Amino acid sequence: MSPRPANGANEASTTIDGVDALSISPSSTPPARQHHFPTHDDLLDFVTNHWRDRWVTTDLPSEAVLDTYARRPFFLLISVDAPITIRWKRFQARHQQQQQQPHLLPPTTSPSPTPTTTPTDLETFIHLSDTHLYSPQTGTHPLISRATIRLLNTSPSLAHLYATLGNLNLPDPSRLRPSWDSYFMALASLAAQRSNCMKRRVGCVVVRDKRVISTGYNGTPRGMRNCGEGGCGRCNNMGIGTRSGAGLATCLCIHAEENALLEAGRERIGDGRDGVVVYCDTCPCLTCSIKIVQVGVGEVVYAQGYSMDGETAAVFREAGVRLRQFVPVSLFYSFFLPLFSFAPFREWVWW
Ligand SMILES: [Zn+2]
Ligand SMILES: [Zn+2]
Ligand SMILES: [Zn+2]
Repeated sequence: MSPRPANGANEASTTIDGVDALSISPSSTPPARQHHFPTHDDLLDFVTNHWRDRWVTTDLPSEAVLDTYARRPFFLLISVDAPITIRWKRFQARHQQQQQQPHLLPPTTSPSPTPTTTPTDLETFIHLSDTHLYSPQTGTHPLISRATIRLLNTSPSLAHLYATLGNLNLPDPSRLRPSWDSYFMALASLAAQRSNCMKRRVGCVVVRDKRVISTGYNGTPRGMRNCGEGGCGRCNNMGIGTRSGAGLATCLCIHAEENALLEAGRERIGDGRDGVVVYCDTCPCLTCSIKIVQVGVGEVVYAQGYSMDGETAAVFREAGVRLRQFVPVSLFYSFFLPLFSFAPFREWVWW
């Protein structure tokens, strides 16, 4: 099921191949393959009993309803947005079409003032859009901000939009459940949030046979002042240490990988070389890489590069430790570009 807050130019009630539409209040002329329910709970019960089929609804009036839907593992929230100038032009075009052929237009959900004979000026449209998005009672912005996939629809036509959506393969089941890589890297990223190091926040997770053995983040040792409170002179002296990786020999901060390896211990990593994977949100430095090798890790997965990736890769290569970069798939798609962009996303994938 893929409900989405409607906020683009294509909120029209449509039925996509293989996807049936669901709504709460029936329209006067329901097209085939639409289902209507008295309440949201009824809708959810129906989909739960038929969850292997594909369903879409735009009936998502509040966060309370979203909370109910979001409990189900088959639910995916998709938002559709567009720059306001583009939405205004589309709105004007619809207005013009409505004047000429009122019977051909489907109902719209946003922002839709009562049709008039005069076009809506941009300022009025912005006011309507602000109300649609930010009204304390009915604004859709809180829903949009929770979307798993955010689509920026600047397509010149519905046909172009549908073709692009087809390429995205939105119903792909992997969107509903994170891969192992996504899952463990999200945990490493979460661990990094606990870091107090002034230089850089880094997180790490040691995994054996798909089970987390330990986590770690960087910072000064226990009993010492936190790096963020002046505990490490090197990290806090921006004069000599601004370059990434400079002065590491005088740093008092234990690295995320070191903390995770210390926590796991040699015994638990043991001989499980093939099954032991270290997930780092940043590529390990040279001194961490030799410890990772020594303790018997089989594979290192990292997200972001660091200043000595080449040296680290050489160590792992010689020692027979696999090294690969995990690139999270963007959940923000823009149709503005010829196809769509996979710009780095600010968050880890939680689909
Ligand atoms: Zn530090
Ligand atoms: Zn330091
Ligand atoms: Zn390190």
